[in-house]
Order: sequence, then C-alpha cells, then structure tokens
Amino acid sequence: MKIGFGVDLGGTTVKIAAFEKTGNMLSKWEIPTVIANNGARILPDIADSVLGYCKEKGIAKDEVIGLGIGVPGAVDENGIVASCDNLGWGRSDVIRELSSLTGMPVKVGNDANMAALGEAWKGSGGDNMVLVTLGTGVGGGIILNGKPLTGKTGGAGEIGHMVLNRNETRPCNCGKYGCVEQYCSATGIVRMATDYLASTVDASSLRQLEKITAKAVFDTAADGDAVAQTVLEQVYAYMGEFIANICCVVNPEAVVLGGGVSRAGEPLLEGVKRSFAKWGYHACQDTQFRLATLGNDAGAYGAFKLIVD
Ligand code: ZN
Repeated sequence: MKIGFGVDLGGTTVKIAAFEKTGNMLSKWEIPTVIANNGARILPDIADSVLGYCKEKGIAKDEVIGLGIGVPGAVDENGIVASCDNLGWGRSDVIRELSSLTGMPVKVGNDANMAALGEAWKGSGGDNMVLVTLGTGVGGGIILNGKPLTGKTGGAGEIGHMVLNRNETRPCNCGKYGCVEQYCSATGIVRMATDYLASTVDASSLRQLEKITAKAVFDTAADGDAVAQTVLEQVYAYMGEFIANICCVVNPEAVVLGGGVSRAGEPLLEGVKRSFAKWGYHACQDTQFRLATLGNDAGAYGAFKLIVD
C-alpha cells in the first residue's frame, strides 16, 4: 500500500495526517510547534514524528509517496518560503531541508492555499473554487482547474487585504486602510457592532454584554435584535461586494465559506448570497455558495494533494 503525509504547520501546533493515495485519511495527530531559537526545531520535529509513524506501522521507505506541507507564509514559485514571522523563520528552503531529514519527496505551499486545495479535493469545493476563510482575520485561497493560484511571490489569494473602503481612517494589521479584514473578520464584525452602538442610542441586547463577540452578534440577530440584524446586513453588504469582485476575476463554480465565523451557518450563507445577488456580475450569478466541510483538517488534505499531483 502506498501512503503519504499531509502537514499543516501552525503557530502553536503542527497537524499531521497519514493518507492512502486516494486521499483516505488513515490517521491524524498533532505535535507542538516549538518556536524557540527561531523555529529551528520545527522541521526536525516533523521529520521525527512521521518517521516514528512509519517505524511503528512497519512502513518501508518505498511505500511512502511523499510529504506535503502548508506553512503560514508566502511560498514562491520555486517552493522557497519568504518568511514565516510567527514561527521566527526567515527565508527558508523547506523542501530541501525536510526531504533531507525524511528521505521523502516534499512539496510545500501556503497554508491558506492548502486549505482551499483540501476543500476543493475532499470538501465542498470542486476544481474551480474560492475559499473565503472568515476568522480572526480574513484569508483565502483560489483553486483554478484543480491547482492553487499562487502568483509570482506567493501573494495570490490574499483576499483579506483587498481594499473595500478608501475612506477608512483606522489602519488594518497590514498597515493599509479599509481592507476586507477590517469589516468581514470576527474582529471586524465586533468593531462594526461597537461602532454602530456608539453612534446611536438604539435599544439592543448587545448593550448588556460585557464583551461583544461575533458569535454574540449572530446570536442576538437570530433572537430578533434589530441592531444586530442591521450590523450583519452591513457585514453581508461588504462580503457580497468583495466576493463579487473576486468572481469577476476568477468566475469560480463555488465560493466556500470557512473559518470560525462560518460556524454561524445558514444565516451567514443566506446573507452573503442575498448581497451577492445585488453586487455580482451577471455572468457570475450562477456561483454556488457553500459552507466548508473539512474544518481543521482541510490544510492537511490539501498539503497531501500536492504530493498526489
Ligand atoms: Zn490589510
């Protein structure tokens, strides 16, 4: 039996999964990401872990097709990682280092692109899709004809930093003003709710909360709170607008919503669809909207798919 590995390298844990060549997941586990000494232990720890798995299961070298890994940074067309700030890495040749540590063929991609590739392959995407990851920030990945769109320096798919509002006065984490992330992330939704409450005297149960969260905004809206519903309509307007712009470039079959905010489920999906119907170009009106289905496993599936390809 031929097997391989998909690895999703995050800032606190490394998710590792073993797969059959078909993409059937055999096993998954996590190890801590040791970021001390500029992350020098990270690749050796991953190598020890997968080699340990092979030894334990009696898997010979020639039965392993390889290892794919998603990293939290830009990966260029030659597989060079420019930097991974939250791991302490500067420019790194992950392919060379990890293949010399494991003796396996290695491929590397950006983590958000790998999550998109995973959803495209085994989740709810298809071969032409855009994954919109709505979490603390907004990330994403674009899959065209079954392949991740990476661009020259690996910056393709950074949809959270498309500019939506040229008049924004507060900066985004990236240093620009008015990025998608400032309105459509969990943090952005909280900020929009806080701003709305500060600018009106409208009654809302959100005012009783010690701390407003994105989940609380969805929950109170579902309970009929008019302020929360208005805030979400503003959020959906931004989401529909920026997704419509992406679709003008990509014309995907499906847009898949993932990340923590997507746990809001059907109301989110319906709100974005409603807004997209208004902002979407006529040739893109058939675009399907779906919720992501692989959760935290998407990155490992996608990283393994790199090796299968
Ligand atoms: Zn930004």
